[in-house]
Parts: sequence; structure tokens; C-alpha cells
Amino acid sequence: MKIAVLKESAAGETRIAAIAETVKKFAALGAEVAVESGAGAQASIPDADFAAAGAKVGNRAEVLKGAGIILCINGPEAGELKGAESGALLVGALDPMRRREAVDAYAKAGLEALAMEWMPRITRAQSMDILSSQSNLAGYKAVIDGAARYGRAFPMMMTAAGTVSPAKVFVMGVGVAGLQAIATARRLGAQVSATDVRSATREQIQSLGAKPIFVENVAGIEGEGAGGYATEMSEEYQKAQAELVSSHIAKQDIVITTALIPGRPAPRLISDAQLATMRPGSVVVDMAADAGGNVEGTVAGEEAAKHGVTLIGASNLARSLPADSSALFARNLFNFLSAFWDKEQGRPVLPDDDEIVRGIRLTQGGKVIHERLTAA
Ligand code: NAD
Repeated sequence: MKIAVLKESAAGETRIAAIAETVKKFAALGAEVAVESGAGAQASIPDADFAAAGAKVGNRAEVLKGAGIILCINGPEAGELKGAESGALLVGALDPMRRREAVDAYAKAGLEALAMEWMPRITRAQSMDILSSQSNLAGYKAVIDGAARYGRAFPMMMTAAGTVSPAKVFVMGVGVAGLQAIATARRLGAQVSATDVRSATREQIQSLGAKPIFVENVAGIEGEGAGGYATEMSEEYQKAQAELVSSHIAKQDIVITTALIPGRPAPRLISDAQLATMRPGSVVVDMAADAGGNVEGTVAGEEAAKHGVTLIGASNLARSLPADSSALFARNLFNFLSAFWDKEQGRPVLPDDDEIVRGIRLTQGGKVIHERLTAA
């Protein structure tokens, strides 16, 4: 089985879907890996490292020729896959809802497209979960970026010239990114508080040494829906949450927002009026910027000064740690493919009735088959 690794063409993309370690692991399964020349350059992996790991390095046409599996970070445009073999698996973050035409083109080309971001959130699939691996790094980077733009120090320092007070960091949304943001801010010495709609996060916040800030006494609140994700909250809850945020936020130096609801725009957690109550020099990092933002006025990929507060519309932060994000993404892909590897056939065999396969398989036999796409 030949596995092709593509050089990413999306603007701003820095990552690659394989590293030397996964090349060797695929070889141990009996596969041969071909990497497009220059694909690892931005992730600090020169072609020579891939060659030393046993991969062939070539141009797009050479790499695609005869490949039964194509690995990518972002789904390529259909025109970029000329020469791909019919029946080949295309594995990556294919963004099927926003790139429906590309998915149709994959089907037409006879490719079996597998959207890794639709991996079910079950224990068996944890090591294959690209959303988690990338969110974790993004949560770390959000704090580092916030700290870099903050004109004060994070830890308390007692010096001969006087005492520096610790920074107060508030994390809103305690999923994978939020948990890592709490841990990172704590490591830097900040005083950290955090909130979420899912009451299960209260204990997680405390176990990281941070203070939970929760809406209390609102009937029937439990913001946990299918797959452990959040649900949209009642009006009563949203009002109580806004009041709680108002009183808390004015005392914070750094706010990191990460709140997302699958399939919906990001919930609005901070209004412009609330932003104006923060101390001048405070920093807000909105990690939900790509989904519309948790903060009024956020623009993805842009930084703005509002009422003396720096508002960062953080976009795809994992891309700014390309060596680590590539390594984790590449391992997610290997963990998925190796879990289904049939040694006798020398290739992955993906059973129709498997929960993971059903979750991520978009196209098969020339057709778009995923129910989330066919029902639309
Ligand atoms: P996410 O990125 O969808 O959302 C981030 C956080 O924002 C969530 O914790 C959510 O509850 C919170 N949020 C939503 N609306 C909010 C609001 N109005 N106010 C405050 N917070 C709000 O979440 P995620 O990081 O993908 O994690 C979701 C869940 O899935 C977690 O329980 C996580 O542990 C779980 N998970 C399970 C697996 C697995 O078992 N394979 C893998 C990854 C994550």
C-alpha cells in the first residue's frame, strides 16, 4: 500500500499530515510513504528527514501515482488531485459542511473521503481525535499570545523594588482548549478562574487549581448535550450568565474565551459594554473568532484596541505551533489507519457498521453517502 502525503496549499497553513515517526510506523505495517517535496518545510521537517525515515520524496504527480491512501491537513481542491487513483482513501480535515462542492468532486473522482473532524467522541477514538489534539495546543497558545500583549507580568514577584501582583486570568468555556488555557495560565503564575455551562467542568476547574465561576439557582440548567458537547441555554440562563460575567470581568486582566456549540454560531458571552468595564491594558483572546466570536466586535485573525482593551480574534492557533501540531495530527491519522489495518491484505479495512467509520466516511463508490450531507 502506497501512502501519499500532500503539501498543503491553503493560505496560512503551516502543518503537514506526516512526520518521520509516522512514516516509520507505516513502513512497519508494510506500507510505503511518498511525501510531496517541501511539504514539511514550515513545520521544520526537511525533505531529507523524510527520506532518512524511508519515505520517497517527489512532486505531486509522483506522490499521487498508485497511492491507495492520501493524507492531508486541509481537504485539497478537486483540481489538485489529478492523477489520484479511484478508490483511494482521502484522509484529513475535509470541512464537509463548508466545502460541499469539493466533497461532490471527491465522490466523482471515486475517492473515499474521510473527514477526521467528524470523529465520534468515544473513548476508543480519543487517540484519533484531531479536534482535541489541535485545540489543546491552541489553548496553550492563546495564553502565550495574551501574555505577550499584556503590559504586565503574570506571576507575583516580590522584588527589592516592590511587589508585582499576579495577573488575573478568566477562562470562559472549559472544553479541551479551555482546560489547557487554565493549566498554562496557572503554570505562568496567574490567578485563574473559569466558567462553563456544563456543570461537569466544575471539578475539572478545581483540580487545576482554578476557581469555578458558575451561574447558580437557575432552574433546570445542565448545558450538556449529545457527545458531551454544550447545548444552547435558556433565556433565563443567558441573562443570569451575563450578570455574573459583568460583575466578574471588570476585575480580570486577561480573558480567554473558547465557547462553542456544534453546528451553531458561537454564543455571545461578552458585550462591548462589558468590555468597556475592563481595566485599560487588559487583553481578551477570543478563540471562537472563526465561529463568529464570543465577544462583540471580534474579527477573526485581527487584533483591535477597544476601550483600552486589546481584543485578539484568534484564528486557527494550532497553525502557529506547526512542529507540534503536525506531530499530533500525524499521530491521530496513524492511530486511525493502524486501528483498522488488515495485515494480510496490507491495507486498512473499514467496516460499514463501525461507529468510527460511519462517523467520518463521506463518500464511497462514487457517491456522497454521509447522512449529514445527504439529509441536507
Ligand atoms: P467545544 O470546543 O465544542 O466547546 C468549548 C467549551 O465551551 C465547552 O466546554 C462548552 O461546554 C463551552 N460552552 C458552550 N457554550 C457556552 C456558554 N454559553 N458559556 C460558557 N461555556 C460554554 O468543546 P470541546 O473542547 O470539543 O469539548 C466538548 C466535550 O467533549 C468535553 O466534555 C470534552 O471532554 C469532550 N471530549 C471527549 C472526547 C472523547 O471522548 N474522545 C474527545 C474530546 C473532547
